[in-house]
This record gives sequence, C-alpha cells and structure tokens, in this order.
Amino acid sequence: MKTIYLDHAATTATDPQVIDAMLPYFHENFGNPSSIYSLSRSTRNAIENAREILANAIGANPKEIVFTSGGSESDNFAIKGIAQALKDKGNHIITSQIEHHAVLYTCKYLEKNGYNVTYLPVDNNGIVKLEKLEKAIRPDTILITIMHANNEIGSIQPIRQIGEIAKKHGTKFHTDAVQTFGHIPVNVNDLNVDLLSVSGHKFYGPKGIGALYIRKGTKLTPLIHGGDQERRRRASTENVPGIVGFGKAVELALGIMEDEAIRQTGMRDNFIQTLLEKIPDSQLNGHPVNRLPNNINISFEGIEGESILLNLDMYGIAASTGSACSSSSLEPSHVLLSIGLTHEFAHGSVRFSLGKHTSQGELDQVAEVLPGIIQKLRAMSPRYNK
Ligand SMILES: *Cc1c(COP(=O)(O)O)cnc(C)c1O
Repeated sequence: MKTIYLDHAATTATDPQVIDAMLPYFHENFGNPSSIYSLSRSTRNAIENAREILANAIGANPKEIVFTSGGSESDNFAIKGIAQALKDKGNHIITSQIEHHAVLYTCKYLEKNGYNVTYLPVDNNGIVKLEKLEKAIRPDTILITIMHANNEIGSIQPIRQIGEIAKKHGTKFHTDAVQTFGHIPVNVNDLNVDLLSVSGHKFYGPKGIGALYIRKGTKLTPLIHGGDQERRRRASTENVPGIVGFGKAVELALGIMEDEAIRQTGMRDNFIQTLLEKIPDSQLNGHPVNRLPNNINISFEGIEGESILLNLDMYGIAASTGSACSSSSLEPSHVLLSIGLTHEFAHGSVRFSLGKHTSQGELDQVAEVLPGIIQKLRAMSPRYNK
C-alpha cells in the first residue's frame, strides 16, 4: 500500500535533485570553508552561492542572511538576540497566542528572565487585530514577533501592515515565515520585516538547515559563540551539504511556486467543500480565504483527532492533528483554543497539508474513506449523541 502523505506542514521529503546537489559536499568537496587552501575555496563558494539564491528570493542582500540549524534556531536567535542586544532600551516583547512553540516557549523563557511579554489574542479566523497590536506597544517595547502563516490552521497574517505599525513606533519586527517561504511570495521589503525565519525541510530541502534574515543595521547578540563563521553572528563550522541543499531547494521551490499555489488552492477548496458536505457536524478552522494554499484543518464534533489519525493510518493515509509538538500531550492545541473552539471541537481536529506530489486522486480516496471513519468513531463515542 502506497502512503498518501498529507502532512507536508510537518516536513517534506528531500527532493532527489537536492540530494544530488548535496552529495559532492560530503566527500569530494569536504574542505573546511575557513581554511585557506583551494579545496576550501569551493566549499566557501558553494555557501556564498546558496546565500545569494536565498537573498535574491526574499529581496535581501546576501550579507543579511545567516544560516542556522533550522526554523527553531532562527526563531530563538531572532528573539533572544534582540532581547539581549536591546535590553538597555526596554524589556517588553509582543507576540500572538498562536505562534509556533519555537516562538512561544522562547518568549516564556524570557519572561522567567526579567522580560515582559504580551500575547495578543486573535479573531475567530486566527488573525491578529491591528488595533490591539498598536495599543499593546509601549515605550519599552523592543520586539514584535508575529508569524507569517500559522502551521496548524494556515491563516496568513497581515504582516505588511504589522510591519508598518512596528516601523512607526521604532520597534523591531520579526516574522516566522517557515510555513510560507517556498510556497507563497515572501519579500522582506514588501513585508516590512527586520528579521525573518525560514527552514529547509518545509520546502523539500534537508532537515537541520534554516536561515535567519537580519536587516542591515539590526543589532543581534549571537546565540552560539565560538569561531568567526557567518560574519561572527553564528559560530560553528558551516553545514556545507545542508546549505548547498537549501540553496537548491529554494531554486526548485521558486520555479514551481506560482503554479503549485494555484493547483493546491483549487484542490484545497474542493476538498474542504466535499468533506463539509459529506460529514455532518464538521467545521473548517482558520481563515476561509487568507490561508496557506496547502492547508486544510477541520474539526469533527464528538470524537478525538488522534483516533481519526489512527484509522486513517490503517488506509495508509498520513495526516496530523495540527502540531507535531503537541501530539504527545492530551491538551487540545493552543491555536484552536485561541480561535474560540470549544474543547469538544478542538479535540476532534485533523490537519491535511498538501504538497507538490499530492494528486486529486489521493484526495478523492481520503474523501471516500473519511466519512465512514467519522461515523464509526461517533457511534462509539459517549460524547456524540446525535
Ligand atoms: C516547522 C516549523 C518551525 C520549526 O522549524 P524546524 O526547522 O523544524 O526547527 C518553526 N515555525 C513554524 C511555523 C514551523 O512550521
């Protein structure tokens, strides 16, 4: 049985062309980029080539890019780096209640270390309210960090407008663009951001490689101290194969982005409509229009999302309840509670996230088996009496 993989928001398979690009950097071109012999020159060039590809993709200068170990490190670096560098200016940070844990738990950590954090609520569609954001800004606010699109419910934030507000008040602005980069246009000037996080494995690059965009003139204290790599902003011998693979993945993603966004949006809306029609007491979570092209998040009343996933797995269908990080806890997702779902609906949610290999035929198969699964689980559920 071939797996129907519908969990691309959690991770993607590394593209074979990406692997081919990486391979020579494990054995032939293995030189330490910091060394002076010619063997090292080629690895140095390969890194700078990848840096340029990413910089061009987001409208940045290559000098404004630091490679990291992934989205989590980029988020930690941006938030802790600003908090530390600007601590004489203030200790207040603004974020939202629906951020990824890499942002949320970093903010919680800072709260334990003398910083104040405002966690902005969102509306029922998962969108930050601009008036509330502006009201939350204080003279001691040093950073606003709001994600570009949510990994669970797909809602896309008005980042450009948030950036305008941040600029007006002289506050630094970071966005976690891990779910959007490679899937929809991301340009640091259009978005008005000072810092932006991306991760390779969310767009068919390797795991363990990401980047942080740092606008020129933005003071940031390093997270990792040691050597002089990455213009002294991140020590450690560069992950050369990872960086090369990252660059290749960016190239491939940009080449198909526009067409894929249109194709996936069509399949997404069709799939949502079909499921809501076929299955009673179900509802879409997240913004109906301003959402990631590949994100479908639906709640089914009266049953557990985990039971649905186990049943789908018996048909070879891989989906998620939303966040890979919360799958080990019994608490419903902080995102679903923040958009006002009752525990009843929040527990019964499933996220399907599409990818470049997803076909209409695969979605048809899911739409074929899911109504039966829901019906069976509801018949056994003491919490569903309709
Ligand atoms: C996956 C993800 C991350 C974490 O990225 P890693 O590269 O796995 O550390 C951060 N933020 C968002 C929104 C994500 O989806």
